[in-house]
Amino acid sequence: MSSETEEKRSKAQPNGCERAFVQGNKIKWFWAPAFFGFWLLLYVTISIPACHRLPRPLTIQDEETHPDQFIAERAEKNLRELVSLGPRVVGSRQNEMAALKMLSQKMQKIRSGTANDIEVDVQVASGSYVHWSMVNMYQSIQNIVVKISPKNTNSTTYLLVNSHYDSVPAGPGAGDDGSMVATMMEVLRVLAKSDKPLKNPVVFLFNGAEENPLQASHAFITQHKWAKYCKALINLDSCGNGGREILFQSGPNHPWLMKNYRRAIKHPYASTMGEELFQHNFIPSDTDFRIFRDHGSVPGLDMAYTYNGFVYHTRHDKAEIFPRGSFQHTGDNLLALVRQIANSPEIENSAKYAKGHTIYFDVMGWFLVFYTETEGVILNVIVSLVSIGICGYAFKLMSVNSGIKLEKILKKVGHTLLVQILSVVVGAILPVLLGLFMDAVHLPLSWFSNSWLILGLYFTTFFFGLAIVPALYFHWTKRDKLPIGQRVQLLLHCHCLLLSVLTLIFTICGIRSVFVLMLSCLFYTVGLIINIATKLHTKDVAWVIPHIVCTVPPFVFFAYFSHGFFTTFIPMFGRFGENLNPDLAVAVFSVAVGFLCCGFIIPVLQLFNKSKTIICGLMGITLLCFIIAMTPIGFPYRPETNVQRFAVLHTKRTFHDAQNKVRRQESGYFIMPQDRRTYTVKNAVINMTLAQRIGSDCDKEINCGLPLYNQRWHKTRKNSLWIPASEPVLGENVPTVLLLSKNTVSPTKIRYEMQLSGPNHMALFIQPLNGAKMMDWSFHQAPLRLSFEPPYFIYFSWGVNGDPLKFWLELEKPNGNWNSSTLELGLGGHWNHHKELITPDFKKFLDSFPHYVDATPWPASFESRIF
Ligand SMILES: [Zn+2]
Repeated sequence: MSSETEEKRSKAQPNGCERAFVQGNKIKWFWAPAFFGFWLLLYVTISIPACHRLPRPLTIQDEETHPDQFIAERAEKNLRELVSLGPRVVGSRQNEMAALKMLSQKMQKIRSGTANDIEVDVQVASGSYVHWSMVNMYQSIQNIVVKISPKNTNSTTYLLVNSHYDSVPAGPGAGDDGSMVATMMEVLRVLAKSDKPLKNPVVFLFNGAEENPLQASHAFITQHKWAKYCKALINLDSCGNGGREILFQSGPNHPWLMKNYRRAIKHPYASTMGEELFQHNFIPSDTDFRIFRDHGSVPGLDMAYTYNGFVYHTRHDKAEIFPRGSFQHTGDNLLALVRQIANSPEIENSAKYAKGHTIYFDVMGWFLVFYTETEGVILNVIVSLVSIGICGYAFKLMSVNSGIKLEKILKKVGHTLLVQILSVVVGAILPVLLGLFMDAVHLPLSWFSNSWLILGLYFTTFFFGLAIVPALYFHWTKRDKLPIGQRVQLLLHCHCLLLSVLTLIFTICGIRSVFVLMLSCLFYTVGLIINIATKLHTKDVAWVIPHIVCTVPPFVFFAYFSHGFFTTFIPMFGRFGENLNPDLAVAVFSVAVGFLCCGFIIPVLQLFNKSKTIICGLMGITLLCFIIAMTPIGFPYRPETNVQRFAVLHTKRTFHDAQNKVRRQESGYFIMPQDRRTYTVKNAVINMTLAQRIGSDCDKEINCGLPLYNQRWHKTRKNSLWIPASEPVLGENVPTVLLLSKNTVSPTKIRYEMQLSGPNHMALFIQPLNGAKMMDWSFHQAPLRLSFEPPYFIYFSWGVNGDPLKFWLELEKPNGNWNSSTLELGLGGHWNHHKELITPDFKKFLDSFPHYVDATPWPASFESRIF
């Protein structure tokens, strides 16, 4: 049957309803906007609201009618009290005294009048561990540890709950992590008052040095008297402010934790995909979870806020913008979870239940789906094979109904499969090219404030590529004997085959997140079975109805899931550094998400009249959004809400020669750009035109002559900017290395005893010179044992006690020539929470930044010395 006669056949018997939609054997073209609108409406009215839905917060007035429940208003009060202390940097009075006092007083209040035993312990600890290539060393940092246990228990199985009350110098740390501290305090209050007994004790760790980074959790798990009894962990952190806390890491290898999470949780929000992304270092953050896992082998659940990451680690991370509903969300969950896990039989013998990974995800925040990795493998394989089988059966039916030989149909399948693969490839290339183009024309991050631009720029481009290839194929093979309705079905079946094969491949590779592809196949196959059973598959257009109905649930779910994903990631592009082209990354994300959400939707466009015009219309939307991106709407930043980040260190640098004479001394602003748009500020600030790249110093000076103390900054240090300026005012406690003694151990070996004193954040870089080799030292042994590349990097910070640190180094020179110098020390000092040290010049410089910039100012020093 030619397409002409096919058209006649369809025209012959249209009923009223069909007449409105169908013209010939295609859908009338003007239904295309409604088709797009339908999916957009589902996204906007179901997926997005589900992503942001919070429970009704309970107030103190509700307390009587809601005994034994978490009261959001109380948590909110806790947070406001904590945040009113100001930024709580390790070593500052606010952190070491004020916050400690406030928390201790609250704990004493909770202690009085409870039927449980409550013990409060203030831990002051010193220690060190190796973090990437740096020795992270701390002295006298503090933790407040509170243990709540049933009366007269002798249980030695504790549940650990952790959050941190310290903050970065930049901001008040309301979201990160005051909100979780406040929630923990309220949970503790409810537990203390409750007459529902706990079976095992719960240790609440109010962690005093997380931003430092991760020192206090190390101090607790390696040194505290209760650490060895902690058999499971709930870690609570934040890279945002508000929203729902997501469970993004579990275990590892403890499925019983997820089982208990599912049982207990009131408002589930969890994702295996988050876990895989996090564990493969796609997310530029780290949490205490890793420390507890690696240094204490404590399995656990890691949860965090990710919403509104724009304010994370800035001065806008305020308590006022933290929604009360978020407290209720986390509080309800945490209270139930603490009870569930502390009372579970598994915690008492967790090693016995330590087997296998899990796959978990919540469905729209309604309920949690959870199964083991083995079950996942079985499920993936069965669904993929069944999908392939049903598609094969559909091909056979197609042959029977059309009278075309099966071999010919299979040949068409082969062609269509190639076309579909090509369309995915073209669809992927186009957004990537656009991402490169946006960056090249100096328009990166245009979607930073108006994220819908991502839909208009990258998704539409992907959809265009995905649709135009089959459209051209159908156009060029118009004379095909199969009617268009059958050919579009063939295209969809081929997409399903493609997904099934991908599911199998990724399952073999051990990627747990592949469950999303499996779900896609599953729902498509259900639609296909309905079509076959009702014989609708023989019709030109009617088969679309079951197909669309079965595509709605996965679409709504994937859109929900993806919305959360984008909400989390978009703000992160403001701190991924200057080296990453954010538009390229977003283009790749858009391809992945678009493929997942709309892979079975876009091919339906071929069924419309004027399909090529409709598909080209998508490019019209891209063009329109490109024009919008050039207007102020596409300017990434907004003051207060979507700020551009900079760290500005007012630094004095002094370099000594071998005779201990100053060979170079200068002062200036050292600026670390944190996103791709440094030039926006460079063009706006007069002084910035004087900025030089630090790059050439990296070849000449130890650690580029920079006082960096965070490992994370080292990757981008070559791009950092230096602007000559007046001398900073440094605190009285300037970093100093004193040589206490220098002794010859053997003709080829020498030992230095030294003492380091200075402000509460210091960085020490050690570079052996002239063939000398570091043989031993008093620092952590790992860098020597693992042969790290010098310069060795010791980060040293202190909390309550700033006593000098004594250390020794033992170096060897095989030639025994001690006349030349042996070692160079680079010494960085930081006064990152001393507002009083900000000079008028520095203040003027900071004020010259545009109002959408959030610049963290701090005085710093760097000195190099040769021994
Ligand atoms: Zn944090």
